[in-house]
Amino acid sequence: MTDTSPAIDGWFTTGPEPALVGSRCTTCASTFFPPTAGFCRNPACDGQEFAATELSRRGRVWSYTDAQYQPPPPYIPRSDPYEPFALAAVELPEGIVVLGQVADGYGVADLAVGREVELVVETLYADEAGERTIWRWKPVENPVVEPVETEEADQ
Ligand SMILES: [Zn+2]
Repeated sequence: MTDTSPAIDGWFTTGPEPALVGSRCTTCASTFFPPTAGFCRNPACDGQEFAATELSRRGRVWSYTDAQYQPPPPYIPRSDPYEPFALAAVELPEGIVVLGQVADGYGVADLAVGREVELVVETLYADEAGERTIWRWKPVENPVVEPVETEEADQ
């Protein structure tokens, strides 16, 4: 029997609209990812309690790079021979930057600082127990642009 499950438990939800799961301090509302526990990392806050919170599914590319060389273990190669993949650091509206691989089929040529990306969940690797999934950043093909109201000016 095989199944599909997250490679890391509790860091993201799955389904049609997956989301990262962060920790929000119940005292100062600062949000952290990966999920945290213990003392709040906000130096001005002495909170110690956190609530799991789903983070925004879209953010903007803050920085990105190309992994031209196979990372050392515990990285698990997706293919043999190794195929380079892209990594993006994405700034979310919550004000935090989350690193992740770029979705299958996309590379650095599809990225630019400020480009909108969306969280997707894809297969990281498969073993005898089934597929293990991880979040990735997928460039948004048609970024939603705020409509500009021009009708009144034309009349
Ligand atoms: Zn806090």
